[in-house]
Amino acid sequence: MSSEVEEEASEDRRKYEFRKVIEELQEYEGSGTQLVTIYIPEDKKISDVVAHVTQEHSEASNIKSKQTRTNVQDALKSIKDRLRYYDTFPPENGLVIFSGAVDSGGGRTEMVTRTLESPPDPVTSFRYHCDAAFLTEPLEHMLEDKGLFGLIVLDRREANVGWLKGKRVEPVKSAESLVPGKQRKGGQSAQRFARLRLEAIDNFYQEIAEMANDLFVPRRHELDGILVGGPSPTKDEFLDGDYLHHELQDKVISKADVSYTDESGLYDLVDASQEALSDQAIVEDKNQMEEFFEKLNTGEEATYGFEQTRRNLIMGSVDRLLISEDLRSDVVVYECENGHEEYELVDSRHDTPEHECAECREDAEVQEREDAIEHLMSIAEQRGTETKFISTDFEKGEQLMDAFGGIAGILRYSTGV
Ligand SMILES: [Zn+2]
Repeated sequence: MSSEVEEEASEDRRKYEFRKVIEELQEYEGSGTQLVTIYIPEDKKISDVVAHVTQEHSEASNIKSKQTRTNVQDALKSIKDRLRYYDTFPPENGLVIFSGAVDSGGGRTEMVTRTLESPPDPVTSFRYHCDAAFLTEPLEHMLEDKGLFGLIVLDRREANVGWLKGKRVEPVKSAESLVPGKQRKGGQSAQRFARLRLEAIDNFYQEIAEMANDLFVPRRHELDGILVGGPSPTKDEFLDGDYLHHELQDKVISKADVSYTDESGLYDLVDASQEALSDQAIVEDKNQMEEFFEKLNTGEEATYGFEQTRRNLIMGSVDRLLISEDLRSDVVVYECENGHEEYELVDSRHDTPEHECAECREDAEVQEREDAIEHLMSIAEQRGTETKFISTDFEKGEQLMDAFGGIAGILRYSTGV
């Protein structure tokens, strides 16, 4: 197993763990402004953070409500305790700590403290936040699907190229043309004028293509697509004329009518291409599911359901483990007095059910209950199996969740399991 696969696998897993913690934190509410969130960048000294928290602790003594005051101070104390685990600086990409007394029903509260180390993207600035809810948005943004798109807007007078990185538009280069207006000057033959004008347009399209090629070709393998915008028929002329490098031409996923071709046109282009962009976000998921159904229909190189997939994973026969993004299940391990071990999948929000051994009909004892996805992913990691999370925003993705229990695998070879 290459270290790259290993790294990617553990990154997927970390993202899943983050998502779970965020979902948990989003559900909490404080009865007052008493839930504390701290975002700490990797270059912030832990001692500075401790000093800040100490300062907040002493300022909290001014809070009028005794209950809120106590809760805030308890949260801050708990954060200080957590900070003791770190040396001079936080781990790579920084650290986020959540702490506070949350409503646990019936007018009671419960102290909750969660630490998230090394988020997928670096924490960019130090933030201290105290509110009735935890501050999770910056982390949510980090977990959104990123994506890199090339942007081109053009008409016959000017053009702009740039990037769309995640949700951020980055204008890079612009060009202005020497194409003469439609009105010819007196004395010029109409034919000659028309020819010169076409030449100038052709030259300008070449110039735009060169600008786009310079920017996009070196990163063409990372590119998720290219968006082209402008008035009709300019953008169509440009695309139909094959001015762009052929590999870029194949990456054009959307052309949109936009009226501005200055930098603001790049933003309009992104707005006008939302549908293509959201389709693109699930293209890979769609391909995975297509492949799964193909294998399922034509042979035996596919598996689904917790038990079968787990057995295939252990055999090392799974090439890709497919897990529905909506799956929230735990696996419970039971053992009966005759030593038969059995697994049952339980909704994460439900209590652990009784279990009767399928082999000897004896009552079985609970040995362990853990997150089903983490359970499967850790076997996958040991066997060099890639894990793919599949969105439910398309038909076959929904089927994975509803018809296959949210768990499936594309096999390397048929195992008969
Ligand atoms: Zn048994």
